[in-house]
Amino acid sequence: MEFMAEFPDDATCLDWLWRNRYSEDGLHAHCPKCDREQAFERYNTSQQRQSWTCTSCGLHIHPTAGTIFHKSSTSLHLWFYAMYLMTSTRCGISAKQLERELGVTYKTAYRMGQLIRKRLMTQTAEPFKGGTPIEIDETYVGGRHRRGYHRGRPSADSHKQPVLGMVQRAGRVCAMTVDNAKAATLLPNIQERILPASTCYTDEWVGYRHLGMSGYDHHRVKHAQRVYVSGDVHTNTIEGFWSLVKRGLDGVFHGVSKRHLQGYLNEYAWRYNQRHEARGRFQELLLRSTIA
Ligand SMILES: [Zn+2]
Repeated sequence: MEFMAEFPDDATCLDWLWRNRYSEDGLHAHCPKCDREQAFERYNTSQQRQSWTCTSCGLHIHPTAGTIFHKSSTSLHLWFYAMYLMTSTRCGISAKQLERELGVTYKTAYRMGQLIRKRLMTQTAEPFKGGTPIEIDETYVGGRHRRGYHRGRPSADSHKQPVLGMVQRAGRVCAMTVDNAKAATLLPNIQERILPASTCYTDEWVGYRHLGMSGYDHHRVKHAQRVYVSGDVHTNTIEGFWSLVKRGLDGVFHGVSKRHLQGYLNEYAWRYNQRHEARGRFQELLLRSTIA
């Protein structure tokens, strides 16, 4: 198996962190105490997490310090494997499956999944680059009555959680939970991520009515008149993403609470945004773990 060949044990994982966070050649690193480049050697103790030691002053550096792995009693090897599994499946992996694959308790598997989603798969705060049109749409997740996911907004007291999404054609997606789908709620979220004068496609929901006035080149698809595509003006890309999310949430993650929904949105957006890098997805997530 690909993963086991690259990371056969805990020591390999720790060495990967050491080299990617502190020491390019695995032997030298900047020592903050000596304030210069020094030779380091692996410090062998009975501790679960080993460290490297400055051969000049004796300072210890723990490669996991500040990462999500640091205080965990789960082995680094299992953390890496969980990240591998979460990036290599198409629809995601449930805590139950993780529990089985990793041989940890359900509680541990669940917690690991949440930390990976919420801390490592976070969505960038950077706005979309100008140029290609951006589709904007909102959808509703959860609740007991599934009305088929087509148009039609649920009433305000519904148990469904509104989610706002934006996708740039041939680019990336971002998706976030919002309190409601009113214009006053949607607009600031849109302005935070889409540069002025960008071309935006939405349906005719009133929540988008201020986009033109706010300086966007705004075009609407008239779904009410059963027009779904009018030339380039359509929202099929973001709707395709929604159906991916909903299929996954129904099939893999049965009943996701509102509190955790953003984590799952992160996970789906992460996979979507890395869709052209099958091999790179796991590497990308590993690298993300070194800074979060
Ligand atoms: Zn030193």
